[in-house]
Amino acid sequence: MQFISVAVPVPFLDLLTYAVPPSLAMPAVGARVRVPIGSRTVTGCVIEAPAQNAAPADARELIEVLDDEPFLPPAVVELCQWVADYYLAGIGDAIAVALPPGAREKASGFRTRRTAALTAHGRSAAAGDASDADLRLTARQREAVAALSAVSAPLPLSELRERGITADLVGRLAKHGLVAIAEEAHERDPFEDALMAGVARDPARQLTVEQASALEQLEALAGRRDFRVALLHGVTGSGKTELYLRLARCVCGSGRQVLMLVPEIALTPSVAALFRGAFGDRVAIQHSALSDGERHDQWQRIRRGVVDLVIGTRSAVFAPLPRLGLVIVDEEHDSSYKQEEAPRYHGRDVAVMRASREGALVVLGSATPSMESYQNAVSGKYERVVLERRVLDRPLAAVRVVNMRDEYAAEGPDVVISRDLAAAIEDRLSRREQVVVLLNRRGYSTAVVCRQCGDMFDCPNCSISLTVHAARNGWRARCHYCNYSVMVPKACRKCAAPYLEHTGFGTEKVEQHLCDRFPDARIGRVDRDSVRRKGALASLLSRFAAAELDVLVGTQMIAKGHDFPGVTLVGVISADVGLGLADFRAAERTFQLLTQVAGRAGRGERLGEAVIQTLYPEHYSVRLACGQDYVGFFEKEINFRRGMKYPPLVAMVNAVVRGRTFDDAMQTAAEVVRRLADGAQAGGFTILGPAPAPLAKLRGEHRVQFFLKGARRAEMRQALRAVVAAMPEVRRRVTIDVDPLNVL
Ligand code: ADP
Ligand code: ZN
Repeated sequence: MQFISVAVPVPFLDLLTYAVPPSLAMPAVGARVRVPIGSRTVTGCVIEAPAQNAAPADARELIEVLDDEPFLPPAVVELCQWVADYYLAGIGDAIAVALPPGAREKASGFRTRRTAALTAHGRSAAAGDASDADLRLTARQREAVAALSAVSAPLPLSELRERGITADLVGRLAKHGLVAIAEEAHERDPFEDALMAGVARDPARQLTVEQASALEQLEALAGRRDFRVALLHGVTGSGKTELYLRLARCVCGSGRQVLMLVPEIALTPSVAALFRGAFGDRVAIQHSALSDGERHDQWQRIRRGVVDLVIGTRSAVFAPLPRLGLVIVDEEHDSSYKQEEAPRYHGRDVAVMRASREGALVVLGSATPSMESYQNAVSGKYERVVLERRVLDRPLAAVRVVNMRDEYAAEGPDVVISRDLAAAIEDRLSRREQVVVLLNRRGYSTAVVCRQCGDMFDCPNCSISLTVHAARNGWRARCHYCNYSVMVPKACRKCAAPYLEHTGFGTEKVEQHLCDRFPDARIGRVDRDSVRRKGALASLLSRFAAAELDVLVGTQMIAKGHDFPGVTLVGVISADVGLGLADFRAAERTFQLLTQVAGRAGRGERLGEAVIQTLYPEHYSVRLACGQDYVGFFEKEINFRRGMKYPPLVAMVNAVVRGRTFDDAMQTAAEVVRRLADGAQAGGFTILGPAPAPLAKLRGEHRVQFFLKGARRAEMRQALRAVVAAMPEVRRRVTIDVDPLNVL
């Protein structure tokens, strides 16, 4: 009998061993198999063939082999094993991020979509030849007939649905004999998106001297065809994208493939469009905003080897490219590369690991590199490639700071937009230039307090105050963690006093103030609330790009990578939003956000300016961001991290223990820590905690956390693995985060 180890889609489970019955061929590593687990049958992925004698005597038999060839390439399977091991995740969870949607169903390959077209009878009805009285069509049905008669080709039902014509309605028209419904094979093209069109790039453009020498450096590294990491540190607007494009072309020209990771494609569709323009249909795209069908089709194209270049968000790091020569990680500092659920991997770090296994070059690009990456460049582990100037010698935005303490003293405590910022906006509007206004906090107000009894309107499930949003029929308070929501009552729920005060403010209120103050300006808002509807974000960004909006207000979503040449002013409402958090990365995040958002101004021919409102003008993250002094910031921050023994100078693991009561969580955490402490000295790590997490309650569960800090991750992982394995009853209540970004 032969045996195989299989990753199954069940959280927390390790590899399971199955026997291959004589009736089945031995499946390859990476093939999908149907296996029994308990009383169910699931689709798993073959990870390895263990030694005969290692197999348990009671191994169950495999039911079916779905693939003759590996479905996941063996290199990707190995990468998933590394992820599961490094991040202390289940192998099933790690394999799950590498699989395309629908991979657990048997059928794959082409899918079909349903389309509708008018029949001859329908066409004469549309032309008014048959009377409505005969047909008794409703108004909506007439609308649908009209929509179909306006086009010559069959329309997909999905498109009709977007126009408010449901499948039901189409079905009824088909019953009347007016419409024919057909199935057609369809490979979806995510670039069909209207926004993807119309991005022109001048292919004959001359590189600047700096760009040319950076490209030469990078091409030389790529030419060595072995593993290297280059940190491309280029100020905002220095033309990094142009370099990615040329380097990618060079690598593809030598017969190898390119993977380009971006933080969020929806935020910067123009980058994907540029690559599409340059590489045509040799580009595939992978990100979570695509429909499952689209993602599946794109994945299959990559797997078939018909693409040279894949652009995608973090999970694209697992794309099944067989001849990888280059991985680009754009905006490498961006926290969206970290997955905040199992497996808690960092896309950038997995990219580096993948490249090291496949002998590829990694280019990490940023104007504000992460402390981790810059430290690696300083220590010589990474090559450093620098772009110090903007293209065409455009100056960086001039930054002005408004001390809000002075402003409150002069204008009262309700100021949202300072006199300085208001004057600057007024000035740009009068010159028909565009303005970006950042506040990294959404909602209208951030808390509700009873002025009589002091009751805070907190979430019943989480230790956080509810955020107030403007709703059609009043004020709605919502928890941004668990989504609990309730209308804000007229009177206090505790003491019934009618003195509820709304305090703090977010993007909705800023938008309101701007509208009141500049009634003629066309103002748009970009935050997670305003872009909930599919297509809303693309529409806002394209309207701003087309100068159909004058002002864009938003959260950090508007600070990222955009290239809007018409923007000459950036206003930051509260630069210090993130500084109050109990997070050792608070200063780094603030510096990055301010530098990045200031980098949105003055990217065209006209000079840019940034006005930053803050209560802490002297805080080093604010001060150095104003001077756009990355190196100054890095030096200051690395000293702080060294003094406090924080990453990147030590490795860190965060563990959160959840419980139904605080005592329950605390006692469990204390027991885990007690057992870990036995091996701490030998393992060269220290344990901090347990202590209540800053978010002490979340979704009804109490949270207690502790940290491991040390020089060697391997030993910390090993200790954690051993302790957790010895306490199986707590496995589900402990979340372990290796190299955590979010420690709240
Ligand atoms: P970054 O990503 O470094 O912030 P971008 O790649 O967005 O910068 O480039 C900034 C702007 O400069 C873009 O509009 C881009 O088209 C333009 N650009 C890039 N390289 C050149 C060049 N060599 N000459 C003229 N314009 C350039
Ligand atoms: Zn909540």
